[in-house]
Amino acid sequence: MELPWPHRRCIVCLRDDVPMTRAHLIPESLGGFVWSQTHCAACNNGLGTRVEAGVKHDPTIRYTIEHALAAELPELVKAFAEGQPYVIPSKQGPLAARYRDGAVELGTTKLDDGSLVQERDRAAQTIETMLERAGANAEERHAALERIAAAEAGEVVDLGRGLAIRHGTTEGGSITFDGQRVSDEFPLAIAFHLLAFFVGDLIYGAALEPLRATLRGDSPLDESEVVVESLIDRSTGYVPQHLLGLSRVEPHIVIRVQLFGPPVWHVHLLRVKAPKLEPIGMMLDVQTRDVYPAKPATAG
Ligand SMILES: [Zn+2]
Repeated sequence: MELPWPHRRCIVCLRDDVPMTRAHLIPESLGGFVWSQTHCAACNNGLGTRVEAGVKHDPTIRYTIEHALAAELPELVKAFAEGQPYVIPSKQGPLAARYRDGAVELGTTKLDDGSLVQERDRAAQTIETMLERAGANAEERHAALERIAAAEAGEVVDLGRGLAIRHGTTEGGSITFDGQRVSDEFPLAIAFHLLAFFVGDLIYGAALEPLRATLRGDSPLDESEVVVESLIDRSTGYVPQHLLGLSRVEPHIVIRVQLFGPPVWHVHLLRVKAPKLEPIGMMLDVQTRDVYPAKPATAG
């Protein structure tokens, strides 16, 4: 769904001599479906790789999409989880894993003692390759693979040429999240994009240059310009909806970004004043792809 934008000028780099592209208000990987021609391709891609990519590792967002809303948003869960790094607990410590074709599979983890942990079939291939490199002939390699197949769990099997294997098990295949929270630039990018629709071409003004510089990756977020409060609102349940709003206009603008219920950011734009604006909110329904007016939520 397009939000019309009458200007042909990028709101981040201010260039007007390059084509504009579809910039999503909330990333498509989070079910975002509202976009506008407000960003040039370079700025849009830059934000995508530098800023939005981090959202896929954010434990709060991951929990929300992959667990809390898994039943409501199956397609989104699938797309979101595909190729994502996971960690599976085991007696040997945390093991690297990935999600592919609807299942979690082990990757390769190197333990402190130098040994490798891999899934059974892949480990057999690795061993065959290592034996081959060590000069083992086909017969020797075949014998080693037979010994691997016959090994009991927990038993250390010597394969010759300095190699040994042991079958182990992962603990229930449960998943833990070890990602970092997404950076504050993420809610800032959403807030700035949204702000454009409240202030129109004032978004190009010199007063907002420090925010643009941060969004371009030219300078770190300046706490005298922006303060981002990140919180978990436990008073609300998980819902397949996003809430965006201008929650305060005085003494400075506060934009609320609320994704799927509990994860909330209040983006305080300390130097941006717009007393003529009214607090306003909108709800984006990820399932129906409809946008509704919503009560402007007050900042915390
Ligand atoms: Zn640009």
